Amino acid sequence: MKFLNYNIIREYSIFIFLIILVIVMLIIHTIYSNSKTQNLEKLNSSLNNTYLKKTVQEITNNLKPRFTYYEYSSKSGDNHQSIIDKLDISKKEKKKILATILNEKKLKILNINQKFNFKLDNLSKERIVEFRVETGKKNEIVFSKSADEDKFISRVITKNFKKKVVYKETIIKDSLYNSAINLNINPNIILEFARLYGFQIDFQRDIWKDDSFQIIYEEFVNENKEVIDTGEIIFANLNLQNTDYQLYKFEYAKNKIDYFDENGKSVKKTLMKTPINGARLSSSYGKRKHPILGYTKMHTGTDFAAPTGTPIMASGDGKVMKAGWCGGGGNCVKIKHNNVYQTVYAHMSKFGRGIKRGTRVKQGQIIGYVGSTGLSTGPHLHYEVIENGKKVNSQKLKLPSGKVLKGNERKNFEVAKIKIDVLKSNLISN
Ligand SMILES: [Zn+2]
Repeated sequence: MKFLNYNIIREYSIFIFLIILVIVMLIIHTIYSNSKTQNLEKLNSSLNNTYLKKTVQEITNNLKPRFTYYEYSSKSGDNHQSIIDKLDISKKEKKKILATILNEKKLKILNINQKFNFKLDNLSKERIVEFRVETGKKNEIVFSKSADEDKFISRVITKNFKKKVVYKETIIKDSLYNSAINLNINPNIILEFARLYGFQIDFQRDIWKDDSFQIIYEEFVNENKEVIDTGEIIFANLNLQNTDYQLYKFEYAKNKIDYFDENGKSVKKTLMKTPINGARLSSSYGKRKHPILGYTKMHTGTDFAAPTGTPIMASGDGKVMKAGWCGGGGNCVKIKHNNVYQTVYAHMSKFGRGIKRGTRVKQGQIIGYVGSTGLSTGPHLHYEVIENGKKVNSQKLKLPSGKVLKGNERKNFEVAKIKIDVLKSNLISN
C-alpha cells in the first residue's frame, strides 16, 4: 500500500509539473508576441520618419561606397570607344560620354599613355558624374555634370606642380651631350643650350677636353617630386680654353625674351656657326682632319660629323634656292639669306618637310637630315657660307649680333643680370 501511494503521488506530481510548464510557455509566448508587435510598430513608425529613412539609406550606402573611380592609361591599339567600353555603364551612357569627348577639339586625337579618370555614382542611373582626360603633362580637361544633370560641362585645369630653379655645372670629359646627361640634365635643355650657343660656337672644333659649363634652368616638379617638364634656361656659361661665353635670359620688352651676353648683346646672329643639333655631334676634341679621301682641292666648307638622321637647321632666315642633287655634294640645300650671304648644306640623307626651291625658311627650321650622299665617306654635314659670291670660312666669320641693348633696356638688363648673379651664388652655396 505504501508502495502504491508513492506511485500515485509520483504520477500526480508529473501531471502537475506538465500543467505548470504549459502555463509558463503560454505566458512567455504572449509576452513575446506582444513585444514583437510593438517592435514592428516601432520599426514601421521609424521608417515613416523621413529623417530616419535617410539615415537608414545612408547606412546602407556606407556599406558600399557611393562613388567608385576608374583610372585608365591609353595603350597602343586603343581608341576612345574601346576605352569607354571598359566602363560598367549602359550603352546609352557610353554613347553620351564618347560624344562629349569627341566634341572637345583637344581630345580628337588619342595619344598613347593619355590618362583617363572616371568618377561613377553607384546610386544614380547614369553613373558617370565626372571624368577627366589629360591633355598634357601640365593640363587636363575636367567634365562635370551640369546642374540639370543632362550634359557635361568641361573646363581645362592645370595640374598641381611647382616650378623649381636648378643649377648644374661640370667639366667636359667626354662629349658635351654625355656630360650633360651624366648631370641628369633633361635633353630638352641640352638641345636649347646647343641651339643658343650654335650662333657663336662651332661645337665640333671649339670644345676641348676639360672645358666646362654652368647652367641655371627651370624644372616643373609634381607632388611626387618627379620632374614633369622643363622650363627655360635662365643663365648659362660655357668656358672654352679659359674664355667665358655667358648668356643671360632677359625680357627686354613685354613678352619679348632673348638671351644676351654680359655686355647686353644678343647671342643670336644672322647666321649660325653650328647649323646642326650641336648636342648630338660625335665630336673628337679640337681640330679634325678632312674626312674625304683623295681630297686635293682646298676644302671650301666646314664638316660636322654626326649620326645619319641628325636634323640640320637653316642657319638664318632666307629663301631656298635649291633642294636637290648637287653631284659630289649629294642631296644639298642652298639658301639665300640676303644680298650678301648664302649658305649651302651637303650630303643630306633626306630633305626637311616642305623644303623645295622657293620655300621661305626661318632660322633654326629643319631643312634636312645628315647623310652620306655624293662624295662622302661617312655621315656628315658639309656647310658652306658664301659672302658676296665668294666662299668664306664660316667659322671665322665675324657677324654682327642682332639686338644690342641701349638706354633704359640696358639699365634694366644690368639689374636683371645682378639678380641672376645673386641667384647663381645662392644656388651654388646651397
Ligand atoms: Zn666638306
